[in-house]
Amino acid sequence: MTGETLRVARTHFPVSALGPGRRFGVWVQGCPLACKGCMSLDTWDPGGGLEVPVDRLAAQWRQALDQGADGLTISGGEPLAQPGPLAVFLEEVHRLRAGTTGEPDILLFTGHTPEELDAHQQLAASYADVLVTGRYEAGRPTRLVWRGSANQQMVLRSELGRRRYAPYLDWEPEQPPLQVRADEHGVWIVGVPRLGTLSRLDGDLRRRGLPAEAVTWRPCPSEHGKRRRSADSHDNGETS
Ligand code: SF4
Repeated sequence: MTGETLRVARTHFPVSALGPGRRFGVWVQGCPLACKGCMSLDTWDPGGGLEVPVDRLAAQWRQALDQGADGLTISGGEPLAQPGPLAVFLEEVHRLRAGTTGEPDILLFTGHTPEELDAHQQLAASYADVLVTGRYEAGRPTRLVWRGSANQQMVLRSELGRRRYAPYLDWEPEQPPLQVRADEHGVWIVGVPRLGTLSRLDGDLRRRGLPAEAVTWRPCPSEHGKRRRSADSHDNGETS
């Protein structure tokens, strides 16, 4: 029992659009970086989401491993805004993956550059096999997979990370992988869409009569963002 908690926006399994294979995804709640054009506005509020015991997240990771998960993706929000509990969770993740026959990897998205990290953040980041680093800059589009803007770097930190992710460093897919999901809180997406994708999706949702304020990527002057709560979800892994 760790006794630690991590403030989380949502978890999901399987994630197939953020990292290779079928993955357990954790979206950390709270981001102070305020990138213009961020599609995860619902994760900015540091008081949103839910405090989730690290032990519960570790149990979910164990369950995902039992179902053959290829890795863990941590996104947000800004995961390194909670470096202490994140490091405790990732230590558990390492311990549990050591008992598997596969090679599940750890992919961590952060809006910080490596140079910005303090000692606590460096420790948490050190558990990742791969980092995707840097703010989202809407004016610098890219076609590279799993990066939102051209300034963002994919950093391969471990032997596993280098072996598994080297083919993706320069990969520009015809269509970036995306999963579109809906729950009682609204519509949310998994993946890194290209410029223009969200407005097209927004138009599709309007045509289908879905409430426009119930999308996670829209600035929310109403109480919508405050009403959101952490959600754990499982599905069949269809990719839209
Ligand atoms: S793009 Fe990422 S780092 Fe930037 S504001 Fe959004 S959640 Fe924070």
